[in-house]
Amino acid sequence: MLRTIENEVSRQAAPPALQAEFAQHDFEKLRTFCSLTYIASTIIWLMFDLIVSTKGGQGFTGLSMLFIATMVGLTLLIGFLRTAQQFNLLNVVFVLVISIGIRLLVEGLPETEQAVWLTLATSSMLYCASILPLSRWAFISTLAITVVVLNPFVLTEISLMDLRGSMLLCYYSFLACLTTYSFFKLRRVKLLNYTLSKLLIEQAYIDTLTEIPNRRSFMARAGSELGIRPREHDHYLAMIDIDNFKKVNDLYGHDIGDEVLKRTAANIKAVVQGYEYARLGGEEFAVYVSGVRRDDVEVLMDALCRQVREDPHQYPVTISIGLTRVDDHDTLNQALAKADKALYASKNSGKDRFTFHAD
Ligand code: GH3
Ligand code: MG
Ligand code: MG
Repeated sequence: MLRTIENEVSRQAAPPALQAEFAQHDFEKLRTFCSLTYIASTIIWLMFDLIVSTKGGQGFTGLSMLFIATMVGLTLLIGFLRTAQQFNLLNVVFVLVISIGIRLLVEGLPETEQAVWLTLATSSMLYCASILPLSRWAFISTLAITVVVLNPFVLTEISLMDLRGSMLLCYYSFLACLTTYSFFKLRRVKLLNYTLSKLLIEQAYIDTLTEIPNRRSFMARAGSELGIRPREHDHYLAMIDIDNFKKVNDLYGHDIGDEVLKRTAANIKAVVQGYEYARLGGEEFAVYVSGVRRDDVEVLMDALCRQVREDPHQYPVTISIGLTRVDDHDTLNQALAKADKALYASKNSGKDRFTFHAD
């Protein structure tokens, strides 16, 4: 089953909005990892700079301080970024700064070693870029910057014609292709996993007919609302049931019954937007209202009954509601039982109304 859905999803191209959502999700999840990668890169650069300054006799200059300050500043900035796009930009700047820094450092090494160290730096940077949450253009920019600034065949004594040069070229090409391939492959797999999880979660938590949250979703979300302590205002739970729904099915058929269910769900969604609501099953719905006063919830329930009653439609229906205040020590099931009792009272006193559970 999973394989079938996976194949189905991988055949379709992810829409741009979903790709942007995934990029943002990926960046938020990996923000700490990005900071750590930058910190490690800065420390390594600093260590190399100190070694070259002391042993290589290059000297620790004001320029070194400037590089360190810029890299530290950019690393700190990660904590303030809001979007994945901003990180893409910041990464391009960081890569440019550290690449120039490395190029200057390498100049302090013996000529015979320069090309090897430049290749080593390129490989580390491309590997990091391939696992960071970057967009395509940001990765390609990283690749371009390293090829231009850290190219081991430019400003070094190595020649493409000699043995070392040819070997380095082979390794360099292999490395660039491998990291580019792994970046695109990893990105595709991560996007597929994200799309798949989103789809499966939606299917598990959304009612297929009415397209509003289902019982499982309600139990999880209302359950977590119920656990919030201390409460600033009261919490209320409402059970909603369509009146004489069986008659709708009997008179007009199951398809019309389904239409009525969808319409009622849409009305509930429109009126209680901002609170937790769901179709519990059959023609029963529930709403969890938190942070309001009793007067407010009564106005809301009244509006809901009116909205369903006055909805102009060929097959009009009404709803009955059972309402209860959720006590501090109530579990969700206890609150549901109280609301159900109040619903029963609404049904017995003429329907098309809401009744408060009498404590
Ligand atoms: P009351 O006013 O007392 O609530 O009466 P009622 O007729 O609404 O209640 P009852 O529980 O007798 O009938 C509920 C009906 O809802 C029975 C069932 O066939 C129908 N039903 C449950 N799920 C669906 C569904 O998904 N689609 C349709 N069309 N009908 C459904
Ligand atoms: Mg019922
Ligand atoms: Mg009913």
